[in-house]
Amino acid sequence: LNRRLAEFGTTIFAEMSALAASTGAINLGQGFPDEDGPEEVREAAVRALRDGRGNQYPPGPGVPELRHAIAAHQRRYGLAVDPDTEVLVTAGATEAIAASLLALLEPGDEVIALEPYYDSYAACIAMAGGRRVPVQLRPEDGAYRLDLDELRDAVTPRTRLLLLNTPHNPTGTVLTRDELTEIARLAVDRNLLVITDEVYEHLVYDAEHLPLAAFPGMRERTVTISSSGKTFAFTGWKVGWVTAPPALVAAVRSAKQYLTYVSAGPLQYAVAEALALPESYYEDLRAELRAKRDLLCTGLAEAGFGVYRPAGTYFVTTDIRPLTGGDTADGFAFCRELPERCQVVAIPNAVFYDDRAAGAPFVRFAFCKRTEVLQEAVARLKGLA
Ligand code: PMP
Ligand code: GLN
Repeated sequence: LNRRLAEFGTTIFAEMSALAASTGAINLGQGFPDEDGPEEVREAAVRALRDGRGNQYPPGPGVPELRHAIAAHQRRYGLAVDPDTEVLVTAGATEAIAASLLALLEPGDEVIALEPYYDSYAACIAMAGGRRVPVQLRPEDGAYRLDLDELRDAVTPRTRLLLLNTPHNPTGTVLTRDELTEIARLAVDRNLLVITDEVYEHLVYDAEHLPLAAFPGMRERTVTISSSGKTFAFTGWKVGWVTAPPALVAAVRSAKQYLTYVSAGPLQYAVAEALALPESYYEDLRAELRAKRDLLCTGLAEAGFGVYRPAGTYFVTTDIRPLTGGDTADGFAFCRELPERCQVVAIPNAVFYDDRAAGAPFVRFAFCKRTEVLQEAVARLKGLA
């Protein structure tokens, strides 16, 4: 492995899911639902396969049906997106992030990312030869907050772009209108591009998701990323997308064409149909996940964890110090021992930090699981105290 990637090793998600498999523990680590998305969407994929739609290389930007469906989806936010020039279908949000960074960074460019950050950000910034500059969301009164002054101070003449994520994995923070207004102002003032990872856009409970691209001055400088994996509960399909102005989409496409060339065809037709589901689909998804969030948050609090109740995503970040009984705690060690102690798997938030010490006392649990699974996990975790 070369020097650019040597520090990254195996992703924590692979490590922890393997641990869950080998110990038979309940996997609240990696974020994937334990039930598939809507039956009619699955059937749409079967139909596409059977009818021979997309079984040979689909068009590079994505099949027109899906590009039109994505453009229609963005209209819910008042964003007019041209399906022919402003949409790119990718192999999940993961490829969208990688291709965007590879396309937009020059070696040595600085990228500001909110810390804790999703693990692929650091690796992809490194692959693109960029330098990551973390700005921490800080735990405070039961929620993680962004210090806008800290963000402003992090911008230097070498800053090329902000890499944002809202709703935010792993903290569950949803950036507010005021915060996004200030971020937009900063991006315009300092002439920055923004990549905004909004894969959890539909998973919001006590907050409204506002896409950064809809803020003044942002449309022309924002690459927006989302994915069908989260919204439609098909994480294995890896159908994601980018929406951005034509020049930025063209740039990202230049990178994508040499990464995967095109994305899997039949699934694109199915996701186009998913995007045409009625509004009630999103409402039901939110209601279901809200109940699961409440169940898990209450259970974790009763089990003795400090709980940061998420406003969005399907993750809850917890503080293990009340359980370990000290000022310091090692979330890594805690997660590695957890399957043995109580047959549950979680993710140590430290993996999402450059500043490992800042992340050490925190552990993330996913609640995109069946209610009875969450109940059983809570019962087991209560045995820890
Ligand atoms: N960004 C964030 C913040 C995520 O949590 C995930 C989850 N896997 C991704 C991107 C990747 O999405 P996909 O599975 O569509 O590649
Ligand atoms: N995004 C999911 C998570 O944060 C899983 C992604 C992955 O396994 N790469 O758990």
